Amino acid sequence: MKKERAWMEVDAQKLRDNYRNLCQFVKDTTCICVVKCNGYGHDAIAEANVLQKAGADWFATACSEEAVSLRTNGITGNILILGHTLPEQMDDLWKYHLTQTVGDVAYGLALASYCRKNNSCVDVHLKIDTGMHRLGIRPDTPMEETGKLFTAEGIRVTGCFSHFATADSTNTEDVEFVYGQQKRFAEWLKTCREYGYNPGMTHISASAAIVNYPEFSYDACRPGILLLGFDSGYMKHPYNRTPVMSLKSRIAKLDVLQPGETIGYGRTYTAKRTMRIATIPIGYGDGIPRNYPKGEVLIRGTRCPLVGRISMDQLCVDVTHLTDVCLFEETVIIGKQGTEEIRLSEMAEKAGTIANEIATKITGRIPRFYN
Ligand SMILES: *Cc1c(COP(=O)(O)O)cnc(C)c1O
Repeated sequence: MKKERAWMEVDAQKLRDNYRNLCQFVKDTTCICVVKCNGYGHDAIAEANVLQKAGADWFATACSEEAVSLRTNGITGNILILGHTLPEQMDDLWKYHLTQTVGDVAYGLALASYCRKNNSCVDVHLKIDTGMHRLGIRPDTPMEETGKLFTAEGIRVTGCFSHFATADSTNTEDVEFVYGQQKRFAEWLKTCREYGYNPGMTHISASAAIVNYPEFSYDACRPGILLLGFDSGYMKHPYNRTPVMSLKSRIAKLDVLQPGETIGYGRTYTAKRTMRIATIPIGYGDGIPRNYPKGEVLIRGTRCPLVGRISMDQLCVDVTHLTDVCLFEETVIIGKQGTEEIRLSEMAEKAGTIANEIATKITGRIPRFYN
Protein backbone atom coordinates (compact mmCIF):
# COMPACT_ATOMS: atom_id res chain seq x y z
CA MET A 1 0.00 0.00 0.00
CA LYS A 2 1.23 3.48 -0.85
CA LYS A 3 1.37 6.53 1.35
CA GLU A 4 -0.38 8.66 -1.27
CA ARG A 5 -3.98 9.88 -1.20
CA ALA A 6 -4.60 8.21 -4.55
CA TRP A 7 -2.27 6.65 -7.07
CA MET A 8 -1.82 4.52 -10.18
CA GLU A 9 0.11 1.26 -10.22
CA VAL A 10 1.40 -0.30 -13.41
CA ASP A 11 2.53 -3.90 -13.33
CA ALA A 12 5.69 -3.91 -15.45
CA GLN A 13 5.76 -7.70 -15.60
CA LYS A 14 2.27 -7.82 -17.09
CA LEU A 15 3.30 -5.14 -19.59
CA ARG A 16 6.29 -7.24 -20.62
CA ASP A 17 4.04 -10.33 -20.87
CA ASN A 18 1.56 -8.45 -23.07
CA TYR A 19 4.40 -7.30 -25.31
CA ARG A 20 5.91 -10.79 -25.59
CA ASN A 21 2.53 -12.43 -26.25
CA LEU A 22 1.92 -9.87 -28.95
CA CYS A 23 5.32 -10.47 -30.55
CA GLN A 24 4.54 -14.18 -30.66
CA PHE A 25 1.08 -13.55 -32.06
CA VAL A 26 2.30 -11.31 -34.91
CA LYS A 27 5.41 -13.47 -35.50
CA ASP A 28 8.03 -11.56 -37.51
CA THR A 29 5.98 -8.38 -37.77
CA THR A 30 7.62 -5.35 -36.12
CA CYS A 31 5.62 -3.85 -33.23
CA ILE A 32 5.48 -0.08 -33.32
CA CYS A 33 4.48 0.51 -29.70
CA VAL A 34 2.01 3.38 -29.62
CA VAL A 35 2.55 5.37 -26.42
CA LYS A 36 0.79 8.59 -27.41
CA CYS A 37 -1.02 10.80 -24.91
CA ASN A 38 1.33 9.89 -22.08
CA GLY A 39 0.95 6.19 -22.86
CA TYR A 40 -2.86 6.49 -22.67
CA GLY A 41 -2.35 8.01 -19.23
CA HIS A 42 -0.07 5.18 -18.09
CA ASP A 43 3.16 7.31 -18.13
CA ALA A 44 4.69 7.06 -21.58
CA ILE A 45 8.30 7.38 -20.45
CA ALA A 46 8.04 4.55 -17.94
CA GLU A 47 5.98 2.40 -20.33
CA ALA A 48 8.35 2.90 -23.28
CA ASN A 49 11.41 2.17 -21.15
CA VAL A 50 9.90 -1.13 -19.94
CA LEU A 51 9.06 -2.06 -23.53
CA GLN A 52 12.50 -1.03 -24.79
CA LYS A 53 14.16 -3.29 -22.22
CA ALA A 54 11.83 -6.08 -23.39
CA GLY A 55 13.14 -5.61 -26.94
CA ALA A 56 10.93 -2.98 -28.56
CA ASP A 57 12.75 -0.66 -30.96
CA TRP A 58 9.85 1.21 -32.58
CA PHE A 59 7.58 3.66 -30.78
CA ALA A 60 4.88 6.04 -31.92
CA THR A 61 3.58 9.27 -30.43
CA ALA A 62 0.88 11.72 -31.49
CA CYS A 63 3.07 14.83 -31.62
CA SER A 64 6.65 16.05 -31.58
CA GLU A 65 6.55 17.13 -27.91
CA GLU A 66 5.76 13.57 -26.87
CA ALA A 67 8.47 12.22 -29.16
CA VAL A 68 11.12 14.61 -27.81
CA SER A 69 10.16 13.70 -24.25
CA LEU A 70 10.75 10.00 -25.02
CA ARG A 71 14.03 10.74 -26.76
CA THR A 72 15.36 12.81 -23.86
CA ASN A 73 14.25 10.17 -21.36
CA GLY A 74 16.06 7.07 -22.46
CA ILE A 75 14.35 5.94 -25.66
CA THR A 76 16.96 5.20 -28.31
CA GLY A 77 14.75 3.28 -30.77
CA ASN A 78 12.83 4.71 -33.71
CA ILE A 79 10.06 7.15 -32.87
CA LEU A 80 7.27 7.78 -35.38
CA ILE A 81 5.13 10.90 -34.93
CA LEU A 82 1.62 9.96 -36.08
CA GLY A 83 0.29 13.52 -36.29
CA HIS A 84 1.45 16.79 -37.85
CA THR A 85 4.52 18.70 -36.77
CA LEU A 86 4.29 22.45 -37.35
CA PRO A 87 7.05 24.21 -39.31
CA GLU A 88 8.18 25.94 -36.08
CA GLN A 89 8.87 22.54 -34.51
CA MET A 90 10.52 20.83 -37.47
CA ASP A 91 14.04 21.36 -36.09
CA ASP A 92 13.22 18.75 -33.47
CA LEU A 93 12.77 16.13 -36.19
CA TRP A 94 16.42 15.97 -37.16
CA LYS A 95 17.80 17.11 -33.82
CA TYR A 96 16.17 14.12 -32.09
CA HIS A 97 16.13 11.68 -35.06
CA LEU A 98 12.35 11.41 -35.23
CA THR A 99 10.30 9.91 -38.06
CA GLN A 100 7.52 12.19 -39.26
CA THR A 101 4.19 11.12 -40.75
CA VAL A 102 3.41 12.84 -44.03
CA GLY A 103 -0.30 12.74 -44.79
CA ASP A 104 -0.35 15.39 -47.46
CA VAL A 105 1.87 16.01 -50.50
CA ALA A 106 2.12 19.79 -49.95
CA TYR A 107 3.08 19.23 -46.32
CA GLY A 108 5.75 16.70 -47.27
CA LEU A 109 7.27 19.02 -49.87
CA ALA A 110 7.27 21.92 -47.39
CA LEU A 111 9.05 19.70 -44.87
CA ALA A 112 11.57 18.63 -47.54
CA SER A 113 12.30 22.22 -48.51
CA TYR A 114 12.73 23.25 -44.86
CA CYS A 115 15.11 20.33 -44.25
CA ARG A 116 17.18 21.25 -47.35
CA LYS A 117 17.50 24.84 -46.16
CA ASN A 118 18.90 23.48 -42.93
CA ASN A 119 21.15 20.92 -44.62
CA SER A 120 19.21 18.15 -42.95
CA CYS A 121 17.22 15.13 -43.93
CA VAL A 122 14.29 13.60 -42.09
CA ASP A 123 12.79 10.09 -42.30
CA VAL A 124 9.10 10.08 -43.12
CA HIS A 125 6.29 7.54 -43.28
CA LEU A 126 3.57 8.34 -45.81
CA LYS A 127 0.04 8.02 -44.53
CA ILE A 128 -2.42 6.82 -47.14
CA ASP A 129 -6.07 7.72 -46.60
CA THR A 130 -7.96 4.54 -47.46
CA GLY A 131 -11.24 5.60 -45.86
CA MET A 132 -10.73 7.22 -42.47
CA HIS A 133 -10.65 10.66 -44.16
CA ARG A 134 -8.87 12.27 -41.24
CA LEU A 135 -5.29 12.42 -42.37
CA GLY A 136 -3.56 10.95 -45.37
CA ILE A 137 -2.84 11.13 -49.06
CA ARG A 138 -5.78 9.91 -51.11
CA PRO A 139 -4.81 6.74 -52.99
CA ASP A 140 -6.16 8.20 -56.25
CA THR A 141 -3.68 11.08 -56.10
CA PRO A 142 -1.64 10.66 -59.32
CA MET A 143 1.58 8.79 -58.61
CA GLU A 144 3.41 11.55 -60.51
CA GLU A 145 2.31 13.82 -57.66
CA THR A 146 2.88 11.47 -54.68
CA GLY A 147 6.11 10.32 -56.29
CA LYS A 148 7.64 13.77 -55.62
CA LEU A 149 7.79 12.75 -51.98
CA PHE A 150 9.99 9.78 -52.87
CA THR A 151 12.42 11.86 -54.90
CA ALA A 152 12.49 15.12 -52.92
CA GLU A 153 15.78 15.86 -51.23
CA GLY A 154 15.43 16.62 -47.54
CA ILE A 155 13.07 13.76 -46.76
CA ARG A 156 13.53 10.02 -47.02
CA VAL A 157 10.46 7.76 -47.25
CA THR A 158 11.14 4.82 -44.94
CA GLY A 159 7.56 3.62 -44.52
CA CYS A 160 3.96 3.80 -45.73
CA PHE A 161 0.84 3.15 -43.70
CA SER A 162 -2.89 3.47 -43.35
CA HIS A 163 -5.41 3.24 -40.52
CA PHE A 164 -8.78 1.45 -40.17
CA ALA A 165 -11.99 3.22 -39.19
CA THR A 166 -14.07 0.19 -38.11
CA ALA A 167 -11.73 -2.64 -37.12
CA ASP A 168 -13.36 -3.01 -33.68
CA SER A 169 -16.86 -3.78 -35.01
CA THR A 170 -18.58 -7.03 -35.98
CA ASN A 171 -21.26 -5.28 -38.01
CA THR A 172 -21.23 -6.66 -41.57
CA GLU A 173 -20.95 -3.24 -43.20
CA ASP A 174 -18.05 -2.31 -40.91
CA VAL A 175 -16.26 -5.58 -41.64
CA GLU A 176 -16.68 -4.94 -45.37
CA PHE A 177 -15.28 -1.45 -44.90
CA VAL A 178 -12.17 -2.88 -43.25
CA TYR A 179 -11.60 -5.24 -46.20
CA GLY A 180 -12.16 -2.33 -48.58
CA GLN A 181 -9.57 -0.19 -46.82
CA GLN A 182 -7.03 -3.00 -46.76
CA LYS A 183 -7.63 -3.61 -50.49
CA ARG A 184 -7.15 0.09 -51.34
CA PHE A 185 -3.90 0.11 -49.36
CA ALA A 186 -2.62 -3.07 -51.03
CA GLU A 187 -3.47 -1.69 -54.48
CA TRP A 188 -1.80 1.63 -53.75
CA LEU A 189 1.36 -0.17 -52.60
CA LYS A 190 1.34 -2.20 -55.80
CA THR A 191 1.11 0.94 -57.96
CA CYS A 192 3.79 2.61 -55.88
CA ARG A 193 6.17 -0.30 -56.51
CA GLU A 194 5.25 -0.41 -60.21
CA TYR A 195 6.44 3.20 -60.44
CA GLY A 196 9.72 2.08 -58.94
CA TYR A 197 9.23 3.68 -55.54
CA ASN A 198 10.15 1.68 -52.44
CA PRO A 199 7.46 2.14 -49.78
CA GLY A 200 9.79 0.90 -47.03
CA MET A 201 8.15 -0.47 -43.91
CA THR A 202 4.41 -1.01 -44.46
CA HIS A 203 1.82 -1.10 -41.69
CA ILE A 204 -1.94 -0.77 -41.23
CA SER A 205 -3.23 -2.57 -38.11
CA ALA A 206 -3.74 -1.03 -34.67
CA SER A 207 -4.85 -3.22 -31.73
CA ALA A 208 -8.35 -4.12 -32.91
CA ALA A 209 -7.19 -5.10 -36.40
CA ILE A 210 -4.22 -7.07 -35.03
CA VAL A 211 -6.63 -9.26 -33.06
CA ASN A 212 -9.62 -9.28 -35.41
CA TYR A 213 -7.80 -9.50 -38.77
CA PRO A 214 -4.61 -11.50 -38.19
CA GLU A 215 -4.65 -12.42 -41.91
CA PHE A 216 -3.48 -8.92 -42.91
CA SER A 217 0.23 -9.19 -43.17
CA TYR A 218 2.50 -6.17 -43.41
CA ASP A 219 5.99 -5.40 -42.14
CA ALA A 220 4.79 -3.77 -38.93
CA CYS A 221 1.73 -3.20 -36.73
CA ARG A 222 0.84 -0.39 -34.32
CA PRO A 223 -0.49 -1.68 -30.98
CA GLY A 224 -1.48 0.78 -28.26
CA ILE A 225 -4.16 -0.59 -25.94
CA LEU A 226 -3.18 -4.19 -26.59
CA LEU A 227 0.08 -3.59 -24.71
CA LEU A 228 -1.82 -2.08 -21.80
CA GLY A 229 -4.20 -5.03 -21.83
CA PHE A 230 -7.56 -3.33 -21.95
CA ASP A 231 -10.41 -3.54 -24.44
CA SER A 232 -12.09 -0.80 -26.39
CA GLY A 233 -14.80 -1.99 -28.72
CA TYR A 234 -14.96 -5.55 -29.99
CA MET A 235 -11.85 -7.72 -29.86
CA LYS A 236 -11.96 -11.28 -31.01
CA HIS A 237 -11.41 -13.69 -28.14
CA PRO A 238 -9.45 -15.48 -26.97
CA TYR A 239 -6.45 -13.24 -27.21
CA ASN A 240 -4.10 -13.43 -24.30
CA ARG A 241 -3.60 -10.12 -22.48
CA THR A 242 -3.96 -8.65 -19.01
CA PRO A 243 -4.74 -5.10 -17.88
CA VAL A 244 -1.53 -3.62 -16.46
CA MET A 245 -2.97 -0.63 -14.62
CA SER A 246 -4.70 -0.19 -11.26
CA LEU A 247 -6.07 3.00 -9.76
CA LYS A 248 -6.19 3.04 -5.98
CA SER A 249 -6.93 5.26 -3.02
CA ARG A 250 -7.46 4.90 0.74
CA ILE A 251 -10.46 5.43 2.99
CA ALA A 252 -10.29 8.96 4.42
CA LYS A 253 -13.38 8.87 6.62
CA LEU A 254 -15.98 6.39 7.89
CA ASP A 255 -19.38 7.58 9.05
CA VAL A 256 -22.91 6.39 9.71
CA LEU A 257 -25.78 7.93 7.78
CA GLN A 258 -29.23 7.98 9.42
CA PRO A 259 -32.41 7.27 7.42
CA GLY A 260 -33.55 10.45 5.67
CA GLU A 261 -30.08 12.05 5.59
CA THR A 262 -28.69 12.92 2.18
CA ILE A 263 -25.18 12.80 0.82
CA GLY A 264 -23.11 15.11 -1.37
CA TYR A 265 -23.85 17.99 -3.75
CA GLY A 266 -27.41 18.37 -4.90
CA ARG A 267 -28.57 15.88 -2.22
CA THR A 268 -29.15 13.28 -4.92
CA TYR A 269 -28.94 10.31 -2.55
CA THR A 270 -31.10 9.78 0.54
CA ALA A 271 -30.41 7.00 3.03
CA LYS A 272 -33.41 4.72 3.39
CA ARG A 273 -31.86 2.89 6.32
CA THR A 274 -28.88 3.30 8.61
CA MET A 275 -25.82 3.10 6.40
CA ARG A 276 -22.07 3.00 6.81
CA ILE A 277 -20.40 5.38 4.39
CA ALA A 278 -16.73 5.55 3.46
CA THR A 279 -15.32 8.74 1.93
CA ILE A 280 -12.58 8.06 -0.62
CA PRO A 281 -10.26 10.96 -1.50
CA ILE A 282 -10.41 10.67 -5.29
CA GLY A 283 -12.81 12.46 -7.63
CA TYR A 284 -13.44 13.83 -11.08
CA GLY A 285 -10.45 16.15 -10.60
CA ASP A 286 -8.36 12.97 -10.77
CA GLY A 287 -10.15 11.73 -13.86
CA ILE A 288 -12.98 9.62 -12.44
CA PRO A 289 -15.93 10.31 -14.75
CA ARG A 290 -18.42 12.47 -12.84
CA ASN A 291 -21.20 10.68 -14.64
CA TYR A 292 -20.57 7.12 -13.39
CA PRO A 293 -24.00 5.60 -12.77
CA LYS A 294 -23.97 2.29 -10.85
CA GLY A 295 -20.28 2.91 -10.21
CA GLU A 296 -18.52 0.75 -7.65
CA VAL A 297 -15.14 0.49 -5.92
CA LEU A 298 -13.49 -2.51 -4.26
CA ILE A 299 -12.82 -2.65 -0.53
CA ARG A 300 -11.85 -5.95 1.13
CA GLY A 301 -12.34 -7.61 -2.22
CA THR A 302 -16.03 -6.71 -2.36
CA ARG A 303 -17.94 -4.28 -4.53
CA CYS A 304 -19.08 -1.11 -2.75
CA PRO A 305 -21.59 1.07 -4.65
CA LEU A 306 -21.04 4.80 -5.05
CA VAL A 307 -23.65 6.97 -3.35
CA GLY A 308 -24.39 10.61 -4.19
CA ARG A 309 -22.54 12.74 -6.71
CA ILE A 310 -18.85 12.39 -7.33
CA SER A 311 -17.05 15.56 -6.17
CA MET A 312 -13.86 17.01 -7.62
CA ASP A 313 -11.66 15.46 -4.94
CA GLN A 314 -13.82 12.89 -3.20
CA LEU A 315 -16.46 10.28 -3.59
CA CYS A 316 -18.58 8.32 -1.12
CA VAL A 317 -19.40 4.63 -1.11
CA ASP A 318 -21.77 2.38 0.81
CA VAL A 319 -19.83 -0.02 3.05
CA THR A 320 -22.78 -1.13 5.21
CA HIS A 321 -22.02 -4.76 4.35
CA LEU A 322 -18.47 -4.45 5.67
CA THR A 323 -18.66 -4.42 9.44
CA ASP A 324 -14.98 -4.21 10.32
CA VAL A 325 -13.70 -1.93 7.57
CA CYS A 326 -10.94 0.43 8.78
CA LEU A 327 -9.82 3.97 8.20
CA PHE A 328 -6.96 4.29 5.63
CA GLU A 329 -7.77 0.94 4.05
CA GLU A 330 -6.84 0.42 0.42
CA THR A 331 -9.64 1.02 -2.06
CA VAL A 332 -9.46 -0.09 -5.67
CA ILE A 333 -11.17 2.16 -8.22
CA ILE A 334 -9.80 0.31 -11.26
CA GLY A 335 -8.13 -3.07 -10.99
CA LYS A 336 -8.22 -6.25 -8.95
CA GLN A 337 -8.67 -6.88 -5.26
CA GLY A 338 -8.94 -10.47 -4.12
CA THR A 339 -11.03 -12.22 -6.73
CA GLU A 340 -13.06 -9.15 -7.73
CA GLU A 341 -12.05 -6.87 -10.55
CA ILE A 342 -13.27 -3.56 -11.93
CA ARG A 343 -11.93 -3.10 -15.42
CA LEU A 344 -11.42 0.13 -17.29
CA SER A 345 -13.92 -1.19 -19.83
CA GLU A 346 -16.55 -1.64 -17.08
CA MET A 347 -16.10 1.93 -15.89
CA ALA A 348 -16.14 3.15 -19.50
CA GLU A 349 -19.34 1.31 -20.32
CA LYS A 350 -21.15 2.69 -17.26
CA ALA A 351 -19.86 6.18 -18.00
CA GLY A 352 -20.97 5.94 -21.64
CA THR A 353 -17.52 6.23 -23.18
CA ILE A 354 -14.55 4.06 -24.17
CA ALA A 355 -11.71 2.84 -21.98
CA ASN A 356 -9.19 4.97 -23.92
CA GLU A 357 -10.94 8.15 -22.84
CA ILE A 358 -11.04 7.17 -19.17
CA ALA A 359 -7.37 6.16 -19.19
CA THR A 360 -6.13 9.29 -20.95
CA LYS A 361 -8.11 11.54 -18.63
CA ILE A 362 -6.54 10.30 -15.40
CA THR A 363 -4.97 13.59 -14.40
CA GLY A 364 -1.44 14.64 -13.51
CA ARG A 365 -2.39 14.81 -9.84
CA ILE A 366 -2.28 11.00 -9.71
CA PRO A 367 1.29 9.72 -9.25
CA ARG A 368 2.20 6.74 -11.45
CA PHE A 369 4.20 3.86 -9.99
CA TYR A 370 5.80 1.06 -12.03
CA ASN A 371 6.85 -1.98 -10.05
C1 LIG B 1 -3.76 5.53 -31.64
C2 LIG B 1 -3.30 4.93 -32.88
C3 LIG B 1 -2.88 3.59 -32.91
C4 LIG B 1 -2.99 2.67 -31.71
O1 LIG B 1 -4.34 2.37 -31.49
P1 LIG B 1 -4.79 1.21 -30.46
O2 LIG B 1 -6.24 1.01 -30.76
O3 LIG B 1 -4.55 1.74 -29.10
O4 LIG B 1 -3.96 0.04 -30.74
C5 LIG B 1 -2.38 3.10 -34.10
N1 LIG B 1 -2.30 3.87 -35.20
C6 LIG B 1 -2.71 5.16 -35.21
C7 LIG B 1 -2.61 5.94 -36.47
C8 LIG B 1 -3.24 5.73 -34.07
O5 LIG B 1 -3.66 6.99 -34.09
